[in-house]
Amino acid sequence: MLTACGGSKVSRESLTDTAMGTMVNMTIYRKNASEEEALCKRLMEMVREYERECLSWRAEDSLTAKVNKAGEQGEACRVTGEYAELLKKCRELWEDSQGAFDVTLGELTGLWDLDRQAALAASSGQGEKPQIPDRQAVMDALKYCGGEKLQITDNSVRLEKYCRLDLGSIGKGVALDLLQENLEELSQGKSILAGIFSLGGSVMTWRSKPDGSPWKVAVADPFDRGGSIGYLELTGNWCVSTSGDYERYVEVDGVRYHHILDPATGYPARSGVCSVTILSKSGFLSDALSTACFVLGVEKGMALAESYGAEVLFVDTEGKITMSDGMAEAFHGER
Ligand code: ADP
Ligand code: MG
Repeated sequence: MLTACGGSKVSRESLTDTAMGTMVNMTIYRKNASEEEALCKRLMEMVREYERECLSWRAEDSLTAKVNKAGEQGEACRVTGEYAELLKKCRELWEDSQGAFDVTLGELTGLWDLDRQAALAASSGQGEKPQIPDRQAVMDALKYCGGEKLQITDNSVRLEKYCRLDLGSIGKGVALDLLQENLEELSQGKSILAGIFSLGGSVMTWRSKPDGSPWKVAVADPFDRGGSIGYLELTGNWCVSTSGDYERYVEVDGVRYHHILDPATGYPARSGVCSVTILSKSGFLSDALSTACFVLGVEKGMALAESYGAEVLFVDTEGKITMSDGMAEAFHGER
């Protein structure tokens, strides 16, 4: 779907498609409709390329797949400076979150395989039944996880033997940062005015809406699929990410097993929250902190977000909302 509509001066181009295993939505405002159409398409291709070449553990040629492959032998793997930088930031957050945020959980997330289990659960009825791993298997997988097993130099990464990366918690946010950098370059001397981009639960606003009104970014209601608890009013460049237990999960014997795992237990995090929304200038931080704060819960999560200069909103299991001051300024509740 590609549309270019609009009135006399400002036109709008939007594109909806799938990338990084999620729904991607792009909208760009520009002054002159005739100038270089299909910019959204180019940006979409950039996201896909980044996934293919860097993040994906499925695409064999991606840096992540290569690092994991080398990890099977406990060998170092050459990477780009950018990729090394990204992993350094992940490792820092692992330390700052006391291990709650951990991109070395690959062995454990692979064992739970919650994407697949959730899909099985959704296709209920005949065929294979969703399953959860037994406790011993979880404990065994945990032995191969931990930020201390990840060593990074300027252009190489080494994982301890059998440790595996899973960058699922940051991919969308990092892609938003990539879009932002490219938009700055692409817009030089061009008529591109502003835009809004969403990759699943991560949204980026870029510059200000041409009509002067603020961007409105909905905050999902963890208790009502498709509904929202309110919205954020934003002007300028911002990234908003939400992590929730309602995204991908499977229910076995009345217990919900969702896709955000607590590295301390090896099981889905039970910190008393249902969803966490982070507001930050950085896509990486908004995505990474939403996962980290989900695992940490309200009190520790609030402190971590604050230490990174990010704003946070929690919805706990009772539906109670807790926000940082800056978030409260941007948030408009529905009730
Ligand atoms: P979503 O992918 O739904 O936007 P998140 O950004 O919170 O959600 O990322 C969740 C994904 O991150 C999981 O699917 C898994 O791949 C990975 N993951 C799970 N637990 C953790 C954790 N404690 N730290 C880092 N990554 C995690
Ligand atoms: Mg995340």
